[in-house]
Amino acid sequence: MSKRLIWVDGDNFTGWCCSHCTWGFSAPHLESTVATLAFNRLAQETFEKHSCESTNPATTPTMIPIPLVTI
Ligand SMILES: [Zn+2]
Repeated sequence: MSKRLIWVDGDNFTGWCCSHCTWGFSAPHLESTVATLAFNRLAQETFEKHSCESTNPATTPTMIPIPLVTI
């Protein structure tokens, strides 16, 4: 499965998000089409560089509980 770039237009967040993790690229208020295209290109580049595993800390627990040995 590959990650996908998805557009989110909500009350608290507007911008590009990853379909697989919590990665997000917030959109500023853009006045022109040229600025929008530049923003979209930057979002695409940043999106391709990010790693879903490192963005979502819940997937890899750092400590595995060891069962207590009772005598
Ligand atoms: Zn991701």
